Amino acid sequence: MSTIFGLIIEGKIPSKKVFENERILAIEDIHPVAPVHILIMPKKPIPNLQSVEPGDWPLIAELLQVAQKIAEEKEVEEGYRLLTNNGPDAGQTVFHLHFHLIGGRVLGKMC
Ligand code: 5GP
Repeated sequence: MSTIFGLIIEGKIPSKKVFENERILAIEDIHPVAPVHILIMPKKPIPNLQSVEPGDWPLIAELLQVAQKIAEEKEVEEGYRLLTNNGPDAGQTVFHLHFHLIGGRVLGKMC
């Protein structure tokens, strides 16, 4: 069954796109926790980081390159956080792999 991000990737639900190519989509988070809060995801429906298979690593590397580029474009390269919630205990709510790129304010320590 498709997740909300699957529907966004298919264009069935609108989103504010920040970056897109054939393999990767980046969108603004609908409930931002900072001035910059971007979700970067592979279009391939991988549930989370623990589900990444050996052949997917080039895709993940490309995704990290996209994150680096977006950080520059959003002018937060001096301080941003890139994280993925893996599984319910970590607070993952959408089971389509995505990385949160958060910045634009002083973020402080992790919990
Ligand atoms: P998770 O909790 O799985 O790590 O992150 C899911 C993120 O997706 C949350 O930050 C939430 O605000 C965001 N989100 C949930 N539904 C939508 C949506 O329909 N559109 C967008 N742009 N973000 C969403």
